[in-house]
Amino acid sequence: ALSVEMDDVTFCFEEETRRALDGVSLRLEAGSKTAIVGPSGSGKSTLMQLLLKIQRTDAGEIRLAGTPISQVAQEDIWTNSNVVLQENHFFYGTIRENVALARDGLSDEELIDALDKVQLSHLSLDDEVLEKGENLSGGEKQRLAIARAMLKGERLWLLDEPTSSVDVLTERTIYHHLFEQAVDDTLVLISHRLTGLEKMDQIIVMENGTIVEAGTFDELMANRGYFY
Ligand code: ADP
Ligand code: ADP
Repeated sequence: ALSVEMDDVTFCFEEETRRALDGVSLRLEAGSKTAIVGPSGSGKSTLMQLLLKIQRTDAGEIRLAGTPISQVAQEDIWTNSNVVLQENHFFYGTIRENVALARDGLSDEELIDALDKVQLSHLSLDDEVLEKGENLSGGEKQRLAIARAMLKGERLWLLDEPTSSVDVLTERTIYHHLFEQAVDDTLVLISHRLTGLEKMDQIIVMENGTIVEAGTFDELMANRGYFY
């Protein structure tokens, strides 16, 4: 597992006047589980984009396992983490082909087990996924992406609202398996709701590109009774 640190990170999208991130500092210890919550537009996805080097910081520094992200190749970050973004693009082919992209040498048994953990056992490995997954619901696509991330087995999890289209009960089951599997890993999970985040080591609340509060679930509830 590796640590993730941000020091006074600032980022503004081109042609925008308002900073999407404005002086964000955080420290995620190796093996810790962190959720980032906050209203729409508060900068959560931007933070993830900077971690994935989809965007570059204007000022401040991000370090992965102590190394400035400027010295880490974008491909290495993607290769060495289990990534689920809000929009997931699937290739034409079967469910098996889509999930087996996680890594080489996966058996059908392992694939079926992963589908089961994200409650997709109604799908069969030989089912065809139409182009862009048109025959799957939004929630099914997300769960397929999570199954793939679970099978990848890297030690860093970067998850941007992976269950936004999944019902809360199914989300709980998925979180349970995620926690079980990521027990020694560093995990960053963006969510627009606090529900299900009770076990996180740290929940960071963002508003307007800044961190306005951080604490455990119980601390946030006690301080402000947050409800997202
Ligand atoms: P969140 O993920 O919390 O909903 P975002 O990180 O997507 O928030 O957005 C933060 C701010 O950056 C918002 O004001 C949003 O409108 C703006 N923003 C996001 N993506 C872009 C983009 N591609 N171009 C310009 N502005 C953007
Ligand atoms: P969105 O979630 O906005 O639909 P994608 O998830 O397709 O976008 O990707 C967002 C950005 O990340 C794009 O610029 C894309 O080129 C880049 N990207 C996606 N997958 C990878 C990857 N495996 N390696 C490197 N960059 C990637």
